[in-house]
Amino acid sequence: MGVTTLLDEPRRSVAVRESVNPYENALHQLEIVADHLKLDPGLHEVLKHPQRELTVNFPVKMDDGTTRVFKGYRVQHNVSRGPSKGGIRYSPKTDLDEVRALAMWMTWKCAIVNIPFGGAKGGVLCDPRSMSMGEIERLTRRYTTEISHVIGPDTDIPAPDAGTTSDMMAWVMDTYSMHRGHTVPAVVTGKPVEVGGSEGRVDATGRGVVIIAAQAADVLGFSLKGARVAVQGFGNVGSVAARIFAERGAKVVAVSDAYGGLYNPDGLDIPALLACARKDGTLTTHSGGKPMSNSDLLEADVDILVPAATENQITSQNAHLVRAKLVVEGANGPCTPAADRIFFDRGVALMPDVLANAGGVIVSYFEWVQDLQSFFWQEAEVNTRMEQMLLRAYHDVVNVAVRDEIDMRTAAYVIGVNRVAKAILKRGMYP
Ligand code: GLU
Repeated sequence: MGVTTLLDEPRRSVAVRESVNPYENALHQLEIVADHLKLDPGLHEVLKHPQRELTVNFPVKMDDGTTRVFKGYRVQHNVSRGPSKGGIRYSPKTDLDEVRALAMWMTWKCAIVNIPFGGAKGGVLCDPRSMSMGEIERLTRRYTTEISHVIGPDTDIPAPDAGTTSDMMAWVMDTYSMHRGHTVPAVVTGKPVEVGGSEGRVDATGRGVVIIAAQAADVLGFSLKGARVAVQGFGNVGSVAARIFAERGAKVVAVSDAYGGLYNPDGLDIPALLACARKDGTLTTHSGGKPMSNSDLLEADVDILVPAATENQITSQNAHLVRAKLVVEGANGPCTPAADRIFFDRGVALMPDVLANAGGVIVSYFEWVQDLQSFFWQEAEVNTRMEQMLLRAYHDVVNVAVRDEIDMRTAAYVIGVNRVAKAILKRGMYP
């Protein structure tokens, strides 16, 4: 029961559209659920638009003495359920619409796992791989300064996302604290444990992906033990998920990073690949498998596919070529609405990002709580509580999927959008 309801005929009053623009896809997903819920048009209109969007252009002194101007964003989609929450992305491809989409997805994600936050996201247009640590530190400190009037422990709490790390979050915390004149650990999460970070935060997103995959596999009638897994992306989400899949007895046969992938039908040695990626900055130099492109990885003969790289990886162009029976979204937005539809029609079970990768923001919530209370938990407690919250959300979503005979993404959105809509209605409109 549950995941298999994905096979049922969905209600299709909204014609499926596909765009390369993530914000258009996010709006389309919202439209599908608004139609399903018969959402009040005024509320729908409110939810379409981010509440606040900040664009900043700021200078950074580069190592060669030149000055470069970088463009950054912070978008706060909705704060009806609490301060906004969401990561900061460093990417040469980001833009305002991408950050808008990511902020909206954070609103639903926080509501689906029922933590008291709205959604936000930040982005800086830069290529961190071509910058020195000194340059990245100066960029981080100046970007933090530029957005410091809209972030804060009670207003908007950043965290890591693609291209950013815990070290950078320590600089965000330090910069904000220098402005305030005292240490404010709760202004940002995903920090190193030495400066108020939470035990378990680094692994949380990947751990959550595996927890959701195990539940869904169970419903589909197979176990993680011996299951063949492909993971696209070897950043914080993909690398941790691959490691935990392997620890739980799955056979991780394909992994990739931005430079390419590796395939071994007998299973890859994930600890060795982690060591290789740490040493060389890529896993492609490792000899333990055959080279495989990122797009071929998506079509590999596996039971579970985890797209954990970036948006729009699985579209109308390749969704019919995916051979996995279970797709678990580690990244935000890797499957377009058209891909969702193809999976549905083909009976491929899809665990949506807003549920599957929510382990990260759940532990970010725990980090924020620990910082505010100056009382820190053991890792086992963090992991247990995260698993409880995530499983509760999973079962909530399955129940709605079964009740309404809809796919897991739409079911997740039914819960998320409903919770946000109710908060808006209960609070009433100001003035
Ligand atoms: N960037 C992560 C996400 O997309 C984590 C956000 C957070 O911890 O606030 O869920």
